[in-house]
Amino acid sequence: MRINRQKKVHRYLSFYANNFGFRKPFQILIDGTFCHTALKERINLSDQLPNYLDNEVKMLTTPCAIIETEKLGPAVYGAMLILKQFAVHKCGHTEPIPAAACFKTMLRKKNKNRYMIATQDRELQSRVRMIPGTPLLFIYRKAPILEPPSPATVIASNKKMQQSIVLSEAERKNLEIAKESLLGPQQPMIKRKKKKAKGPNPLSCKKKKKDANKSKASNAKKGKSQ
Ligand SMILES: [Zn+2]
Repeated sequence: MRINRQKKVHRYLSFYANNFGFRKPFQILIDGTFCHTALKERINLSDQLPNYLDNEVKMLTTPCAIIETEKLGPAVYGAMLILKQFAVHKCGHTEPIPAAACFKTMLRKKNKNRYMIATQDRELQSRVRMIPGTPLLFIYRKAPILEPPSPATVIASNKKMQQSIVLSEAERKNLEIAKESLLGPQQPMIKRKKKKAKGPNPLSCKKKKKDANKSKASNAKKGKSQ
């Protein structure tokens, strides 16, 4: 089971690397909800996240996410302490906003900075799924999970692939032009005529025995008349 899970993670990560330019160390933006659940499930994120992703990772958060946990008080005190261990990426919000809103602005429409998002916030999770090329991590059954690429992500990667095919089509035309200038215009291929089928398949219209006898008789008549 464990090997199977690891294989999936590798597959997803190489998908993000090939289609969206993700490179290690992978940057993971983490919010208070993720830390809170990790604490509850006794998951040591600094150990288990690099271990689960089997890669070097950079665990990050934003000033807004930290301030949110501070405001929530004693209930999430432990989560706040964990969050404060991570590197803080500037988000540019002079007035702190909720972590979910802050992360959305960090991702914008295309997640150009190639963040992974680690959150238990359902609303933020669904937003993340809509932004192509944004890996989503959450904790489920006492373990971190990297969700399979979302439909929006898969569609975006397919589009990119189609664009690259169009490009190679253009390249093919350029090549033809270059070829023509070197070798002169190419003769069009002469199409071979297709052989026409000669009537219906004789096997499919075998006459019944009676008919066969009749035709024998008529043949015989014909023979006589000749
Ligand atoms: Zn912010």
